[in-house]
Formats: sequence, C-alpha cells, structure tokens
Amino acid sequence: MNAVTEVKGWCPGILRPMASGDGLIVRVRPRCGAFDLETATALADLAERLGNGHIDLTRRANLQIRGLTDDRLTELQAELAKLGLLDRDAETEAVRNVMVAPLAGLDPAQSLDVRPIARAIDDALTSDKRLHALPGKFGLLVDGGGAVSIASERADICLAAVGDTLAFGLDTAKGTEWLGTLPPSGAAEAAIAAAHAFLAVATRGRMRGLSEAAFAHVRAAVDLSPMAVLPSPGGRRLGPLGCAAGVAAPFGRLEAGQLRGLVKLAADAGAADLRLSPWRTVYFEADAFVLEQARDAGLIVEDNDPLLQVEACPGAPDCKSSSVDARGDAGRLATVAADRGWHGSIHVSGCAKGCARSLPSALVLAGKGGAYRLIRNATTRGPVERIIGIEEFETLFDERRDD
Ligand code: SF4
Repeated sequence: MNAVTEVKGWCPGILRPMASGDGLIVRVRPRCGAFDLETATALADLAERLGNGHIDLTRRANLQIRGLTDDRLTELQAELAKLGLLDRDAETEAVRNVMVAPLAGLDPAQSLDVRPIARAIDDALTSDKRLHALPGKFGLLVDGGGAVSIASERADICLAAVGDTLAFGLDTAKGTEWLGTLPPSGAAEAAIAAAHAFLAVATRGRMRGLSEAAFAHVRAAVDLSPMAVLPSPGGRRLGPLGCAAGVAAPFGRLEAGQLRGLVKLAADAGAADLRLSPWRTVYFEADAFVLEQARDAGLIVEDNDPLLQVEACPGAPDCKSSSVDARGDAGRLATVAADRGWHGSIHVSGCAKGCARSLPSALVLAGKGGAYRLIRNATTRGPVERIIGIEEFETLFDERRDD
C-alpha cells in the first residue's frame, strides 16, 4: 500500500492521508454511516497505538485518526484492511461520500429504512470507475426523516424520505432545491444518474456552481413526480430520543479512551453500532439513556451545552504549530460566554491556519506567540482587531455583542 500525502484542501483518506501540525490525519469512512461496536473499539485501540490517541468526528460524518508518523501508516492501513475499511485505491475511497440518516432503521417515526438505498449508492460509486472522476468533495445524502433528520445538511445530491416516497434535491447556491419525488425502488439509480449527468457537464467544482443550462441537464436526468410536501429540516438533537441517545464530543474530538467508553455505554444499552452524524454527534440505540455515565465520560449530552457554540483545534501541546492551549482556552471562553448570555459562534484556533473551521465566526481567537489575535465576524485570516491574553477573555463580551 502506498502513502500519498496531500496538503490541506483535499479530504484525507486512509490511502491518502493529510499532513497537519500533529502529524498525519487519516479519515476513516464508515460503511452506511455506522461502525459496529467491535470495529469502533478496534479504531480506538489503533488511534492510541499508532496515532496520538486523538480522534476527530467530522462534519461529513466520518472519523479521523490523528497524529500518525509516516512509519506507522502502512501498519495502520493493514489493520484497517482487516476491519474491512480499506478501499482498493485512493480514488474509490475518495468517491465514497454518502451521508446517511443516523437513526435509519431505529426511529419508528421514519417511514422508510433508507440504508438499502445508501448501500446501493455506495456500491455504484465504488464499482463504476467513471464516477471516480467526481470532484473530491462531491457528496450525497440519504435521509429518513424522523427525530434526527439530516435533510437540511448540504450535499450535491440529496434524497429524503417523505411519506412512502423519496424527495430528490440538488444543491444550489441557496441550499438544496427539492425538485420532486420518486419511489424508493428507483432512488439510488436516480442519484447515480444525476452524478453521471453532472460529469457530463462538469469535471470540477460542485453542483451549486453549475450554470443554469448545466443544472437543467442534471435535473433532466431524473424522472420525478411533483412534490406536495418538502422534507422536514431536522437537525442535531442530544440526550434521550426514545429510540436512541445522542452524544457530542467537545470540539468534535474524542480521545481513544472516550471512544472505548462510548462503546461500553452503547453495549450496555444493547446497541449494535455507533451512528455518525454531520454534527459531530454520535447516536446509538438506547431505551433508557445513560446520561450521567456519558457526562462522566466527558461527553456533551444536552442541546444547550455552552461548548457546542465553540470550535477549537487541538493547539499546544498536541500541535507543534501552536503556542496556546486552544481547547483548554476554548472551554474557559465558552464558560465566560455562557455567563454573559452571549450566543454567537466562537472559533479558538492554535494558529492562523484555522483547521477547526473554514467558515467565518462571530468571534475568532487565533494563537500567536502565546497570546491570541482577536478577529470578529471573519475566519482566522480576517483583519486583527488587537492582541489579547486569556486574562482578558472576560472583557470580550462587554465590548460588542455581535452574532
Ligand atoms: S490551526 Fe490548530 S491544528 Fe491547525 S496547524 Fe494551527 S495549531 Fe495546528
């Protein structure tokens, strides 16, 4: 197996890791949005033994093992192959960008179990080599509705259960445009037809960047019926959900021990697997929620937890590019913001690279020389208002109240 290391801007994979300040990042894509508990335990052990023990939950519902050195990569790839998680080449791996409703098959409020559709799409993406020309970040989404719907997340091609049909949508500059419905039996085929139609009019970019004529070409590739009801938007929910439990990791980061703890909670609750979501939240089947145990394991179990409004990268000492304890400071800042009743988005970054978030935030602190550059309503590359130390956090919310 070859290691082809790419620079930032490419989604990292097992066969194409990405270099970061704390070593190589390897993204592991689950099959159909879930890892069974045995596999999740093995991933925690591998992250600890071969990486630095830090595991990211990503916004595309994948998991990343961090902190690998080049000499550990081949062994990790071999171990992941034994777990059935290695694709035959980097192109096959890269095209497998399918997000699946995290409660598929668990939530009685869902009219359809959409996993067979997601599996059929995954199979087509991996077996049809023409589709390997799709751009690296081109993605698909299959939602089932119910308590935790992912229909409002962005993906180039979207399918969402509405009653006993599937709504079909394409991504535009304004978000998903829901174009019509089709029966479940033709849903995977329609999504793949749209992917081929995209390739007929574009070799790069995304669905949202197509011209009107090119978009119409993709639209025409799918035979749709008129749609009476739009998919419900849904979103992240934490805590007990009746059929399942939702827990989030602070800053989207699990330690290997936390992942093992999560597996134990899920096993004790009788779950078969851990479901990943685009909100960096994990779901598992649970009748009675294990709230206290999850909280004790350092996980977030409530939707109003102040940590949920803050993004932070590892910072020092894990990342050698940083001079500040970004996550520790982010935790302190979250407490101060909550005390002041401030609800804007916050990004605390170890350095100007801004690995944790590429979009603007209301308040940005980017580490430099043991202090932070203060930036507002921008990314880490935005104009610097001034340099501040952690002792000045209290003052940040007195000055302005930007959202
Ligand atoms: S943003 Fe954070 S993780 Fe990324 S290089 Fe800088 S310090 Fe490291």
